[in-house]
Amino acid sequence: MTWSPAVESLVRELSRLPGVGRRSAARLAHHILRVPREDALRLAQSIQEARQRVHPCPRCGNYAETDLCHVCSDPRRDAGLVTVLEKPSDISAFESTGRFRGLYHVLGALLSPLDGVGPDEMNLASLEARLARGEVRELVLATPASTEGDATALYIQKLAAPHGVPVTRLARGLPVGGELEYSDSLTVLRAFEGRTPA
Ligand SMILES: [Zn+2]
Repeated sequence: MTWSPAVESLVRELSRLPGVGRRSAARLAHHILRVPREDALRLAQSIQEARQRVHPCPRCGNYAETDLCHVCSDPRRDAGLVTVLEKPSDISAFESTGRFRGLYHVLGALLSPLDGVGPDEMNLASLEARLARGEVRELVLATPASTEGDATALYIQKLAAPHGVPVTRLARGLPVGGELEYSDSLTVLRAFEGRTPA
């Protein structure tokens, strides 16, 4: 063991975060141990609060703290225009354009049978419920241009067909295999405006 048990445990937990290797984890741990104690405890507290308060929005799957998420509970949004995304963090790419006034639907995963991700592992039951309630006028698929993203898009197209809801897909201005959440807002806006029938 390189450090005392508590430090070692902190490094180990931090290194489990995505994109954080052991070396970065050690750097973060040393930072946490060096800053004023209140700052470090505030971080611990915000992790705890987020995990206690945040739950998936029952309508769209976005992060929510009240019954519905802040997007679904905004009466000024166009409830008929629904963009389907993989994860809650993709929403920020759309919100940062400042022009998208519709709602979202977060799948939580992309269809990937080889990795054991089937339709049951995705947030599809509530999407079907939304379609069945007749509240969706257009479904915009914003799944990535990848094998899983394409398979997911196809599956949702079939899901929407019996409900007679038109399905469009983002224009391919987005980088192939690129992450929506890391795309700049202009690229996202162009891809949205140039969406084509799926
Ligand atoms: Zn919501």
